[in-house]
Amino acid sequence: MVEGHSVHRIATQHTRRLCGRSYKASSPNGRFAEGARLINGRSFSRIEAVGKNLFAFFAAAGQADVVMHVHFGMSGRWSVEDAAKAAPAKDTTRLQLEGHGIVSSLSAMTVQHGGVEMFEKKRAELGEDPIRADADAEALWERVSRSKKTIGLLLMDQGFFAGVGNIYRAEILFVASVHPNTPGKALSRAEFDRVWAASVKLMRRGYEEGSILTVDKAEALALGRPGLRRWIYNSAKCGRCNGRVASWDVAGRTCYACAACQPLDPSRAEEAEAAAPPKLFNSHCAGEGPRRGLRGRLEPSLNPPRAFLCRREPRGATRPACEAAGGGAARGAHGGRPRRRRQEGRAGEPPPGAPPPRG
Ligand SMILES: [Zn+2]
Repeated sequence: MVEGHSVHRIATQHTRRLCGRSYKASSPNGRFAEGARLINGRSFSRIEAVGKNLFAFFAAAGQADVVMHVHFGMSGRWSVEDAAKAAPAKDTTRLQLEGHGIVSSLSAMTVQHGGVEMFEKKRAELGEDPIRADADAEALWERVSRSKKTIGLLLMDQGFFAGVGNIYRAEILFVASVHPNTPGKALSRAEFDRVWAASVKLMRRGYEEGSILTVDKAEALALGRPGLRRWIYNSAKCGRCNGRVASWDVAGRTCYACAACQPLDPSRAEEAEAAAPPKLFNSHCAGEGPRRGLRGRLEPSLNPPRAFLCRREPRGATRPACEAAGGGAARGAHGGRPRRRRQEGRAGEPPPGAPPPRG
C-alpha cells in the first residue's frame, strides 16, 4: 500500500509536468472510457493530494470542472514519458493523456470521475493529512480524544489520519513513545501532540526524501548506527534500546511496539492481544529503491501553499532542478513545460515475483 508521502510527491511532480495544458484523453483498457471522453481536450488545471488520494481537475471555459479521483491501492503508477519513447499501453492502463510531446499513463485501483461535489464529498470523509498545510490538529484531537478505538487503529483510519500507512503507524508511535493499544480517549493531550508532531515531521520528511526515513541522522550517529533508517517496523529488535520488538495483528495488519520505549499503561489500555514473536518479511510497501516511488529529494515545500520548491539533484543528473508545488502538493500552482523524457510516478508497484503484500 502506497503511503501518503508518495501520493503527495506524484501530485507535486505532475503539477509541474502536466498541469496547464490540454491533452487527448483515452482509456486503453476501456475501464475509464466515459471519464476519458469527458476529460478529452480539457485543460488539466490542477491536481491535489489528500492522504492516499489524488484529485485531478480538468477545466473548460463556461463549464463545471471534471474531477478525476485516483487511489492507487496496493500498486499503481502514473507515468509521464517522452512520446517518442513511450511504452505501449498495458492492460492495466485506465487513462492515457497524449500531447505536447508526452504520453502520460495511469494505472490504479480506483479511477473515477465526477464533479467538484464528488471531490468535496470525498474530501469531507478524509481526516487530517499531516503533509497538508491546511491540516487541523485541533479538530483531530477533538475526535481522537472521544474515541474508544486505540491510537494504533485510529492512525490507520483514513477518516482520522489521512495518508498514514502501516510503516508510518509503527514509526510514528515509536517516535511519540506511545503504545499502539492506548485508546484515543485515554491519550493525554501531550501524547496526542507528540503523535501529531511525529506524523507531520516523519511524513513531510518522507515527502521530501522520497523514502520512509524515520531515524534522525544525529541520533543514528550517536547510537553508532549511521545506516539506521527505521526504529521498529519489520524488525525483531528496537533500533534505540535493542530490546525485543513485539508484533501482533490489528485489523489484519501487523502492528509493532517496543515494550521499553513505548510502555503500555495497563490501567487505561484496552485488552491487548498477546504479542507473538516478530514475523519478518520483505516489505515492498515503503516506496524505496530505484523502481519505487519518485526518486530524489524535494525541498520542504508545503508552507506556504503556493511555494515553489527546488529539488537538489546529484551532479550530472538530467532532471530539472525546480518543481512547483502547491498546498497539499497542488492547489492551483503550476508552471513550466512538460518534460520530454521518461518520468515516473510509481506508487508502490511490487517488483516481479514479489510475495503478496503484508504488514
Ligand atoms: Zn526500544
